[in-house]
Amino acid sequence: MKKWEVNIRRVVPYVPGEQPKGEKILKLNTNENPYPPAPGVRRALQEMDYGRFRKYPDPAAEELVNCLADYHHVERNRVFVGVGSDDVLAMAFLSFFNSEKPLLFPDVSYSFYKVWAELFGIPYEAVPLDETFRIRPRDYDRENGGVIFPNPNAPTGLLLGLEQVEDMVRHNQDSVVIVDEAYIDFGGRSALELLGRYENLLVVRTFSKARSMAGMRIGFAIGSRELIRALHDVKYSFNSYTMNMPSLALGAESVKDEAYFRKTIGKIVDTREKAKKRFGSLGFSFPDSMANFILVKHEKVPAEELFEALQKEGIYVRYFKQPRLENYLRITIGTDEEMERLFAFLEDYLKEHGAVQAW
Ligand code: PMP
Repeated sequence: MKKWEVNIRRVVPYVPGEQPKGEKILKLNTNENPYPPAPGVRRALQEMDYGRFRKYPDPAAEELVNCLADYHHVERNRVFVGVGSDDVLAMAFLSFFNSEKPLLFPDVSYSFYKVWAELFGIPYEAVPLDETFRIRPRDYDRENGGVIFPNPNAPTGLLLGLEQVEDMVRHNQDSVVIVDEAYIDFGGRSALELLGRYENLLVVRTFSKARSMAGMRIGFAIGSRELIRALHDVKYSFNSYTMNMPSLALGAESVKDEAYFRKTIGKIVDTREKAKKRFGSLGFSFPDSMANFILVKHEKVPAEELFEALQKEGIYVRYFKQPRLENYLRITIGTDEEMERLFAFLEDYLKEHGAVQAW
């Protein structure tokens, strides 16, 4: 090893889902929304004055912060925005998890948590979900330097009721508790309701899923003034201009169209519920997802085999080769037509392999 190589930081990075290109590809692997963003976003994009781009964007991101504060009925100094919720979460890890005690998160969860903990040298413990993949709130009643979990959890899709979320926050008032609500719009009650009661609670959200804007990279957090101030201090110590001008303007535009937002979510939820029935009839079992994806396991065919067969067919889903998930596939909910293509293939494949009744 060369001398300078000794000083290189070695990390095991998070591996994002593939972004394959091609006309025939069906992408159900990164929980993107199959519908376009709100029509107002397109209009704003077409009218955008590109001459403005010679300047730096507003470091305080006021246009977007103000609009999110109004939408969620909170003061402006209780909102923090970033480059997708990944950026917001990374800043939150840096800001809040500085204890010698371990950060707690579920063993089956968003795999980036472990990556940030390793990157920032934060001690952590992965708390096992129960055998049905549920979070047991009592498991988090112990000394810790912070708690983070997604609700609904990913990749299980299982939702914790608001009472249980509150129970976890109430029992952990000596550390910061982060509820990662990337998928909450698809069927859950948000922990934003609890913010008035708990200054140690941070709720993190994204525009990538229900708002169909993964490509714009917009995320935000809402919490007490103290938490938001700390996030800003860390952000300004790292990069003042995290968010670019188009993201700020187009994000704000998206929030203005509530009707479109609700309609799109309604369609996805409807397709998800139909998909559950279809998966069931094909011999798959799955936790009852409240998100825009389903974690499925087939009784007879190994997940890895199905994953490869699907990929050959140009259908991309997510396979996590890790403990407890090696026989599952996480499948994003697409449009009805996209799901039909998936099911038609699965039905044929399973019949050919004698894994489902031919009728
Ligand atoms: N949290 C969870 C649970 C996720 O699944 C994702 C999506 N990969 C994110 C956060 C990050 O999403 P984004 O950075 O696009 O907002």
